Amino acid sequence: MPSAARKIAPPQIEAPNAQTPPDGLFKASQEAAPEKLMVARPFMPVAAAITPYLGRIDGSGWYSDFGPLLIEMERRLAARFEHPVALATVANGTQALTLALMASRAPQGTLCAVPSWTFVATLHAVVAAGMIPWMVDVDPVTWMMDPAVLQEQIPHAPGPVGAVIPVGAFGVVPDLAAWAKFRDETGLPVIADCAAAFDACVRADVPVMVSLHATKALGVGEGGFIASTDKALVQRIRETTTYGFRGTRVSLFPATNAKLSEYAAAVGMASLDAWPSTRLRYAAVARLLRMALVDAPQVVFQPGWGMSWVTSTCIVRLPEGSAERIEARLNAGGIDTRRWWGHGCHTSPAFANLPRTDLPVTDSLAGSVLGLPYYAQMSLGEVDRLASALIAALKAEGL
Ligand SMILES: *Cc1c(COP(=O)(O)O)cnc(C)c1O
Repeated sequence: MPSAARKIAPPQIEAPNAQTPPDGLFKASQEAAPEKLMVARPFMPVAAAITPYLGRIDGSGWYSDFGPLLIEMERRLAARFEHPVALATVANGTQALTLALMASRAPQGTLCAVPSWTFVATLHAVVAAGMIPWMVDVDPVTWMMDPAVLQEQIPHAPGPVGAVIPVGAFGVVPDLAAWAKFRDETGLPVIADCAAAFDACVRADVPVMVSLHATKALGVGEGGFIASTDKALVQRIRETTTYGFRGTRVSLFPATNAKLSEYAAAVGMASLDAWPSTRLRYAAVARLLRMALVDAPQVVFQPGWGMSWVTSTCIVRLPEGSAERIEARLNAGGIDTRRWWGHGCHTSPAFANLPRTDLPVTDSLAGSVLGLPYYAQMSLGEVDRLASALIAALKAEGL
């Protein structure tokens, strides 16, 4: 677990595939003394939905090492893409990035361009691959690295650049076609960190990583995958997750053990079964929140959030520099908030001494972007409570 910020909620009574109707949208009101409104709550399958898959494990006697459930789950994940992809699951998204860098043969000791505006996992993955994160700024509109801007910055980098990891902003997918063009023009490997974009990530013009952590849109607990049109790359990643073995027990190159077990695949299969309804829940709650805040245009949602794509978090942009004050007011009212990406990775002690460009956009986003309570099980009463408190906080701050 990277930090307490990703604490997992206690088991839920509400859950997909349960026989009793889950608590949720149609629970209209709160109890008299409102509880703390949590910023996120994982939406994972209940035991009853997983049991049939556990039965298949009993039957097969296959527990890890690319068993039949895992292979079937990988097939289902790959089938969501708009074009044929090779896909390899990995123990978690962070490891998936590291192994993808290694498999891309990005030279150790070179710089890997990453945004500072990302979750710290991206940078940890780069360091684990033996590369040096070089933090660059993001575009003020997309909140993501711009390939054309990076191409101009590379000649001024503080050392040779060996790879690039563009990061999708909170469930958005970067412009993969533009990144493929960048890769073709520069010859640099590009791996897109689309950790929170399970829903939107259905192309792989460059290799993409999606996390399957319980707090992300589609959870298996801990897990992630890389999808790519480059079958050989995915094959190398697969081999890197299993000691550098290629069909024999001969270890061919430095590698590790980063496989997913059949138990994780059982959860993944149940999560995939429930995904169409899970997705609708996320969309329905997002639309309610958008409606509840329709008269607060100072609260800006990400384009398409809850409409054309969903994810497990709600991230809004508030008036410049106001995130901290609004956050304090919401927290005082028992409403939890989260700076999912802190103040940018350059402010983390772990990365403070690493090379970086000027980061004015990152600093501005850090002061105005806030994660609000949002989860698939959220009730009308909770949506209303959040919206009312946010509107009151803006008013109190004169915004
Ligand atoms: C969650 C996340 C990761 C890490 O994924 P894990 O599966 O938790 O290791 C990496 N990058 C970003 C942007 C994330 O949000």
